[in-house]
Amino acid sequence: MDGKLVPWDDAKIHVLTHGLHYGMAIFEGIRAFSTPHGTAIFRLGEHIERFLNSAKIYRMDLGYSAGELAKACVETVRNNPAKECYIRPLAFTGYGEMGLNPLTSKISVAIATWEWPAYLGNESTNRGVRATVSSWTRIDSRSMPVQAKCAANYANSALAKMEALGSGYDEAILLNTQGMVAEGPGENIFRVKDEILSTPPASSGILRGITRDTVIQFARDLSIKFYRNDSTKEELYTSDEVFFSGTAAGIAKVREIDGRRIGYDGTPITDKIIKLYDQATHGTAKRYSKWLTPAKP
Ligand code: PMP
Repeated sequence: MDGKLVPWDDAKIHVLTHGLHYGMAIFEGIRAFSTPHGTAIFRLGEHIERFLNSAKIYRMDLGYSAGELAKACVETVRNNPAKECYIRPLAFTGYGEMGLNPLTSKISVAIATWEWPAYLGNESTNRGVRATVSSWTRIDSRSMPVQAKCAANYANSALAKMEALGSGYDEAILLNTQGMVAEGPGENIFRVKDEILSTPPASSGILRGITRDTVIQFARDLSIKFYRNDSTKEELYTSDEVFFSGTAAGIAKVREIDGRRIGYDGTPITDKIIKLYDQATHGTAKRYSKWLTPAKP
């Protein structure tokens, strides 16, 4: 917290912390995995870059370089016992002045880690999850910058998530203001139709996920035909395979959308991607070892 390692129980903030009231907090979600050479962080550089871009969009001066932030993530992982963990860098307008103007607040930066199994459950890589198209529209970049991972964006995500859970589903799928498929509340979405893999383009108002980018590189390396295109919800309903991608969720299969069964005839492409993601993150696919930053033996 603000440059120091702090015991878990002491990592506290005041109730009048500015960011808590006005949503001025940006964050990242990163994972460290167990590999044959110890614990390593997956695509740390790309996550730090996105963190700094989120800060730039919200005019937050973090006061740390990319190198310092990356080193702090490694230090935090090293000083916690878990072999595999989720890493949450967070920057927020701190305690001081209340009122809407965030520019008078000092910026606090913290990094926390915890053990977090696949966010949508172990079922997500085996049987798959059940999803529903949300009645909430994904936020639009004319109102909120969707490329900034800002806490405020997640009020939209939380509404969709609560609605999905309340209707007995595991996850939501949000459409954008044009009515085209955007993403999950905290994941990107892919579909397979006639052996062609596709995902909505960045221009559809999604967060450009680092796992999404990983999947796109896998598609190239596995010679899977791939393109970025907009799709309607009925195109999702009639897809052969659908999956979510995200750091917290990993690659999570979708087995049903709004009562329509998906992946009825198996999920060969999703299975290939899940396998390669598992190998790349756990350091057993040499080709992707460049994506792993060693954290501890
Ligand atoms: N979309 C949203 C809205 C997210 O919150 C996330 C999680 N960061 C993603 C997509 C997936 O991004 P990543 O693969 O970088 O975790």
